[in-house]
Amino acid sequence: MVWIPPLHMNYVASADSLSFQTMPQGWTAVPLWPEHPGGFAARRKHDVHCGVDLYCTEGTPVYTVERGIVIDPRLPFTGGIANPDWTDFWEDTYAVLVQGKSGIVIYGEINPLASLKKGMRLKTGQQVGNVLRVLKQDKGRPRSMLHLELHKHWAGDDPVWELDEPKPPSVMDPTPHMLEAIRFAPKRDMWTDLRALSRKHKPTLDP
Ligand SMILES: [Zn+2]
Repeated sequence: MVWIPPLHMNYVASADSLSFQTMPQGWTAVPLWPEHPGGFAARRKHDVHCGVDLYCTEGTPVYTVERGIVIDPRLPFTGGIANPDWTDFWEDTYAVLVQGKSGIVIYGEINPLASLKKGMRLKTGQQVGNVLRVLKQDKGRPRSMLHLELHKHWAGDDPVWELDEPKPPSVMDPTPHMLEAIRFAPKRDMWTDLRALSRKHKPTLDP
């Protein structure tokens, strides 16, 4: 199943860790491993990155990449609400977990819509929340982003991918799905039309 991109933006795949500096407004990168620190499997200071980071402004609406069932409507994801040791660098953010055909998609570092409930069925392209600022300190890099993960199954908490350890078995790489999605993604100024279209002809977006 081909995903719909989770943000209504224009996309370019990029391995350049500084591509955000020259990206026009309304554009974002699908970050590519291994050069891009937001890419899947990128090595960080303390762990290996389990998802992909799509940089965007705070408040950007987040939409489901495929239809599915809400597994968790409001999982504490970063900051002190997720771990008492995470207050220095990370703001409090949440994640929404949706079980679909590809697996369990984690929409992380967002403020979920209050209307979401566990067990709720969501259509493709349905809003789940808005992006929050996640990084407390300004290090010259984007501080708000959608952190997107894909898991085979869900055991109740997000496994950490330790440095120099094998990938946790439930974690999958969402990058191929994103690359496929952006090949078919409309340009940003067409998103509104597409949404109107999908309301009229649901099968177009939700086969
Ligand atoms: Zn991330």
